Amino acid sequence: MNTFNKFLRYVAIDTCAQEDTDTVPSTDKQKDLSRLLAQELIDMGAHNVSTDQHGYVYATIPANCDSKSKLGFIAHVDTSPAVSGANVKPVITRNYDGNDINMGNGYTLSPIQYPSLLNHKGETVICTDGTTLLGADDKAGVAEIMQLAYILLTDNSIQHGTVQIAFTPDEEVGHGPMYFDIPRFNADFAYTIDGGRVGEIEFENFNAASARITITGVSIHPGTAKGKMINSLHVAHELHSMLPVEQDPAYTEKYEGFYHLTRMQGVCDNTIMSYIIRDHDRVKFEAKKQLLRDIVNFINIKYGPDTVQLQITEQYRNMREMIEPNMHLIDNAVKAMQQANVQPIIMPIRGGTDGAQLSFRGLPCPNLCTGGYNFHGRYEYITQEAMDKVVEILLNLVKLYK
Ligand SMILES: [Zn+2]
Repeated sequence: MNTFNKFLRYVAIDTCAQEDTDTVPSTDKQKDLSRLLAQELIDMGAHNVSTDQHGYVYATIPANCDSKSKLGFIAHVDTSPAVSGANVKPVITRNYDGNDINMGNGYTLSPIQYPSLLNHKGETVICTDGTTLLGADDKAGVAEIMQLAYILLTDNSIQHGTVQIAFTPDEEVGHGPMYFDIPRFNADFAYTIDGGRVGEIEFENFNAASARITITGVSIHPGTAKGKMINSLHVAHELHSMLPVEQDPAYTEKYEGFYHLTRMQGVCDNTIMSYIIRDHDRVKFEAKKQLLRDIVNFINIKYGPDTVQLQITEQYRNMREMIEPNMHLIDNAVKAMQQANVQPIIMPIRGGTDGAQLSFRGLPCPNLCTGGYNFHGRYEYITQEAMDKVVEILLNLVKLYK
């Protein structure tokens, strides 16, 4: 059973997560895949295999030499609720010729829209039939780790330290690490295999906070309002216009942070605004929050105390500060890729990652590629060759940590 066949088996199982539930997993069906993975790990001879009521799977591949190293690999079983993950029917194109792929159902996967396809001529492309997502995010990561486990457990000529494996639920709804048992996992450090194209190494994500702003106006009959009315909608407009116009998601990329107005609702009497604030750089992140406080103070001086109330809530932090004392994780990932003739691509994540939360809980955990593209949508695709390349990279990493 190769990685390709494992992948096809896993994407056939619907593991779509759901927003706004109080349970982990958010959907019970995620455990269908967790149970299958646990059974497969037992069948291939992994040690210490377990799965729990939340759908986490843990397993150990014991060292076969006197190495003390304990390296972990983590992937998630759930898929994004953005597009259906039920009845996934992969469309397989062998020896891809660089032309449009007819996905069926009136959908076309075209290199004009997705030029990355042209890097995969001659390969076996796996896409969807247009009615669902594919689930390469993150079943490609799952299949690659399972193939790594299979190779290590069958080929005793590869010397390695202890390799710890975990599969998690609910990554797509932000609850992946919630019940992750770090002592049970028992690794010195780990990689999540949850990135995109082959070569990606990610160890920086945003610092993140949300801000809720409540504006209280003075409502009065407009015919007799002169000198008395304070229209909270105008105050909201004024407040927003004092933020740096270029620090908006629509104008930023790479390491540029932003303020994002996610919601605004109001009448003359009161208005509520919701922002998210993002920056990779801790100092700039603190400055962004401070500027918002200063603006609110100014408005309160202008219109009277308590016109505006500001509540800032911290969300997550850039894992870079937790990875920096363990830069061997990045250096070895680069080396493992170069040994596989892959050009490493180090890019900041413009969002958060499960690995960031795990890193701050004491398990340094950068993110590596799965080989897939266009996650969370019907144009999601991956190639058999890309998955094989990732398995080769993981194998190289295991050897580097011997
Ligand atoms: Zn993912």
